[in-house]
Amino acid sequence: MSEQRTGTKCVQAGYTPGNGEPRQIPIIQSTTFKYDTSEDMGKLFDLEATGYFYTRLQNPTNDHVAAKIAALEGGSAGMLTSSGQAANFFALFNICECGSHIVASSSIYGGTFNLISVTMAKMGIEVTFVSPDASDDELDAAFKDNTRAMFGESIANPALTVLDIERYAAAAHRHGVPLIVDNTFPTPVNLRPIEWGADIVTHSTTKYMDGHGAAVGGAIVDSGKFDWMAHADKFPGLTTPDESYHGITYAEKFGKEGAFITKATAQLMRDFGCIQSPQNAFLLNLGLESLHVRMPKHVENGLAVAEFLEGRSEVQSVSYPGLKSSPYYERAKKYMPNGGCGVVSFELKGGREAAGAFMKKLKLAAIETHVADARTCCLNPATSTHRQMTEEQLAAAGIPAGLIRISCGLEDKEDLIADLEQAFA
Ligand SMILES: *Cc1c(COP(=O)(O)O)cnc(C)c1O
Repeated sequence: MSEQRTGTKCVQAGYTPGNGEPRQIPIIQSTTFKYDTSEDMGKLFDLEATGYFYTRLQNPTNDHVAAKIAALEGGSAGMLTSSGQAANFFALFNICECGSHIVASSSIYGGTFNLISVTMAKMGIEVTFVSPDASDDELDAAFKDNTRAMFGESIANPALTVLDIERYAAAAHRHGVPLIVDNTFPTPVNLRPIEWGADIVTHSTTKYMDGHGAAVGGAIVDSGKFDWMAHADKFPGLTTPDESYHGITYAEKFGKEGAFITKATAQLMRDFGCIQSPQNAFLLNLGLESLHVRMPKHVENGLAVAEFLEGRSEVQSVSYPGLKSSPYYERAKKYMPNGGCGVVSFELKGGREAAGAFMKKLKLAAIETHVADARTCCLNPATSTHRQMTEEQLAAAGIPAGLIRISCGLEDKEDLIADLEQAFA
């Protein structure tokens, strides 16, 4: 059969039951797995044989769902993590260590900004933030000898800037490091970063992939394309023996296609234990089965709400890459011809106070620290998710104090607009 389309993969990829086996991915609710001999188990610990021994490292339910997400992104291997935060941390820490440096887009999720600029700084990992719209020269200038990764969000949460993935990937590759793209907002239904040169893709599956506000989770997908051995001096963790794993050299034993995810599983999952529960992986898969049906509706509602807000005199500005007036319109059309997501950011005249008063009046759109599920919700980032940032950092991330992020769910768009209208009234 020819390569399947995205919708078919959403429904069927990652799990093919044998004769008489469960049609739905079974929840393997077991911490451990039984073996007949110690020799059998020893082979697993040596990574000589594949199999399961302890759910902190790997679980069959999780692996089926990870395989589906890897297929959707067009990657060679994937893994689930307990959250999107864990996914981004693992993706970076798998190739960075004390003394490393990261180049990251300044327009990223507040939690990731904090992770990189505060928590990873405590581990001795430095970062240089660059504008998502930086010129090639500005990008090149950000790299150092100890740079080990470049990071950005395909559509940034909550600024809704669109990453020029091809140009970022080219810059990363000029400096011999991989580009990691957090693809949470568009999902692989609307954008597949690997097709544009990204090497590693991460997700907060908590958002559209789950889609129902039911389970926190994350995922990492490796393109299998980055040649670690060609830059062996930069990535000793992948290209020299791992003494904590019987001297295995991941890039030699598992090749370009398997090294990154195997190391993240065998080393980081073993030591940090940020595993997704099999129950949550099961719920995530239910969401994935309809992702390709839901995303177009989120896009339709997002565009309708953005166009409505743009016509209101109370609104200072609207950010939505699908709006013709958006500075990201052309870039969004190139990378996401079918639209990006259902999240719209807008700034009310009157700043923080006006935003608070307006949000109090909304009836359908609930105030939540969440985005990207079936129910419409909204948030003022400056007083919530991004409150740890200074005014200057907020400005650099494109987040004015009066910004409201509204995540358009799957309701009828006429009702969403009526809710906004009564709040303005
Ligand atoms: C929510 C989010 C995260 C963090 O994910 P959690 O599942 O909440 O840990 C990371 N990146 C983006 C773009 C997000 O929207």
